Amino acid sequence: MPSRRLAVRRSAIHGRGVFALRDIAAGTRLIEYRGEVIAWDVAHDRYNTRSDAANGTTYFFDLGDGQVIDGGAGGNSARFVNHGCRPNCEALDEDGHIWFFALTDIAEGDELLIDYSLEFDEGDAEDEHDDYPCSCGAPECRRTMLAA
Ligand SMILES: [Zn+2]
Repeated sequence: MPSRRLAVRRSAIHGRGVFALRDIAAGTRLIEYRGEVIAWDVAHDRYNTRSDAANGTTYFFDLGDGQVIDGGAGGNSARFVNHGCRPNCEALDEDGHIWFFALTDIAEGDELLIDYSLEFDEGDAEDEHDDYPCSCGAPECRRTMLAA
């Protein structure tokens, strides 16, 4: 990562996470979420067939239009940003490119968290619910990465 503001480290929440190497002000542009853009049903098939699915690791960013960015295919460190129900980052679409920005001031050492708010096609949601559990530890944790 260019300015070494961020680093990938083991996360207490899940697998690896992305951490701030210095204090970051709210509104700062942090990193683009790179990867292959694919349809959700393709993504779900990949999730089910990848060996890392066994430990619940997903690198999908939901574009909200039935497509996701698969950070596991040509992605960068942004794919390691974990979901949190009390996020300190937000994702904004800029001309089809997804950028993570600091939603709040982030202190050196803090883990970057995004509210994934995953959405599925109607009818799938109930079945999918248990596949994407959250254990971010926030008091308001929804226990799932799916949209409320
Ligand atoms: Zn949570």
